[in-house]
Formats: sequence, C-alpha cells, structure tokens
Amino acid sequence: MPLRFRPLGKTGLSVSEIGFGAAPLGNEFGEIKPEEGVRAVHLAIDLGINFFDTSPYYGRTLSEERLGKALAGKRHQVILATKCGRYDSDEFDFTAQRVKTSLEESLRRLQTDFIDLFQVHDIEWADAKILAEETIPALRALQSEGRVRFIGITGLQLQHLKNVAELSPVDTILSYCRYNLLGDDLDTVLAPLAREHGIGLINASPLHMGALTEKGAPAWHPAPGAVHAAARNAARLCRARGADLSRVALQYCLDYPEAATTLSGLASAAQVRANVEAACTERDPELTREVLEMLNPARNATWATGLHGNHDSRPLY
Ligand code: NAD
Repeated sequence: MPLRFRPLGKTGLSVSEIGFGAAPLGNEFGEIKPEEGVRAVHLAIDLGINFFDTSPYYGRTLSEERLGKALAGKRHQVILATKCGRYDSDEFDFTAQRVKTSLEESLRRLQTDFIDLFQVHDIEWADAKILAEETIPALRALQSEGRVRFIGITGLQLQHLKNVAELSPVDTILSYCRYNLLGDDLDTVLAPLAREHGIGLINASPLHMGALTEKGAPAWHPAPGAVHAAARNAARLCRARGADLSRVALQYCLDYPEAATTLSGLASAAQVRANVEAACTERDPELTREVLEMLNPARNATWATGLHGNHDSRPLY
C-alpha cells in the first residue's frame, strides 16, 4: 500500500497523508544532531512525504534554520508551511507589522522566496477581533502579493479556532492533540465547519506530543497525569502483544478521512522509515480496540492554554 495523497481543502494542493512536523528539528523533544535532521528530511522526500511544517517558535528559529539548510536544492519538491505570531513560550505578536517582518525572517531562514502555507501560530493567545480585523487580513495581503500561497490558523482550543474561521475565512486549520487515540473532539467541533467551507484540516500530534510512545512524553508535556498513566498502560499492552503503541496511534490517525494530512513530529531517518512503513502496512483492529478501551478513562482530557476567554468551554484537566 503506497503513501496516500489527499486534497488540502480547496487549495488545489495534494498533500501526503503523513506530513513532516519539524518541531523536533528545533530540539523540542530533546537534542538531535543536525546531520540526523538532514537525513530525516531527505529520506522523507525520497519516500514521498511532500508536506513540511515548521515555525519560528520551534527551537526559537532553530527548526526553520535546519529545515532551510536540509531543503537546499529540494525546495521545489515540497509544500512548505511555517507560522507567525508566536516566538517563545510567552512571546506573542499578532500585529500586521510583525506578520510582515516575520515572513521576511522566515523566508531568509528557510532559504526560499515564498511560503506555501503561512499560518497564525497558537491563536488562543490572541483576541478573535484582532485576528479577524488585523492579523488574518495581513496574511491575505501577503497572499495577494504572491509571497505566500495560502493562509491558515493553528492552535489547541477548538471553539476559538472555529469562531475565528467563521469571522475571517482561512484556507486551512491545524489543530493538535484533538484527534488521536486519546480523543476525538476535533471531529465534532471542527470537521463539520471544514467540510462545509472546504477548509483543509491538518491533524497534528498523532502521538499526543510523545505521550503515545514507548519513551513517553517529554517533561514539559501539559496533559494531566491521568493521560500519561493511561498512555503508559497502553504502551505496556502493546509491548506484551509484540506491537508498538506509536504505530497503532499513527495508523489510527491516518485512517481519519476528514484530515488532509497527519503531522507527525520526526526526529530521525529511522522514525521517518517507521512511520511511512506504518502508513503502508495492515492495521490490527482488535489491538486498536483494546488500546482505545484502555485509554478511555483519559479520553478527551485536554488542558487550558491561551487567553482565559479563549479556553474551550469544558477543558478537562
Ligand atoms: P507528535 O505527536 O508527532 O510526537 C512527536 C514525538 O514523537 C517526537 O519526540 C518524535 O521524535 C516521536 N516519534 C515520531 N515517530 C515515532 C516513532 N515511530 N516511534 C517513537 N517515537 C516517535 O507531536 P508533535 O511533534 O508535537 O506534532 C507534530 C507536528 O505538528 C509538530 O512537529 C509541528 O510541526 C506540528 N504542531 C503544530 C502545533 C501548532 O501549530 N500549534 C502544535 C503541535 C504540533
């Protein structure tokens, strides 16, 4: 079974079902060797992955720098997404002026003269009114100048993503940790809007930012303790069956038809190979059912982030 491609909303772009999430290139999940990051990017392209997502926030520009170097001579082979608005854990700027300078800086680091998808990063840190009246129009202006091909928004708080997309149309919405083995509220809150308006839905963090792996989540992971406890039990169950929780988790997301692509954070060529193999091999529905049952006590247990008024109405934490 080869890697599948799907339309990214109404953009006319066709994206690989696995997208290359470049947060790990910024050492967000632990330090990686620069050569290993380059090998991961090159192998991903060779195996058919064509969608790459980064941000100035990942590694405070390190991810963009590394991705730009790895893509030298290969830029035309990929659909390149980056972001603006978030620059550190507590540094945000959603003004039109910063959107413009941010693009110039990203273009330089990514060694390119256009971005395929320019997204506002973690919009729960901004007022819906500012986003609709200032930030998103600034991205649209860059689109009409031809500097970016399409525009999108990203974040965790689904209701805020929905509200903003209703106020100010966007081409894509990226949400993370809201559709995977640990929860599915992306499907109820955002998917109907995306379907109705032809917005490309990007589903990020299939491994729940590392929680659904043998190694477990990084120390900074914001999920409540119940999530990590349930994930450790699920990893144990898979191990006992000679299986790998990460594979089960990724396959579950890849089979979600509403998402154009599943963005998987990739730190090495070995992970690229394992994940492409996972996409191309048969599923184990019985094991998936058992894992879902084991994770059920922590299902949809999310956390609050962003401005208080933008939190989903019922975050469980
Ligand atoms: P993820 O769920 O993809 O998990 C990443 C972790 O899993 C990393 O430590 C990675 O090395 C590891 N991993 C990957 N494949 C593995 C395998 N086969 N076995 C064991 N471990 C494996 O989380 P993520 O990186 O946060 O999400 C994916 C991407 O989505 C990000 O890199 C980023 O590009 C994007 N994203 C965007 C936002 C946003 O815009 N607000 C938020 C989260 C993620």
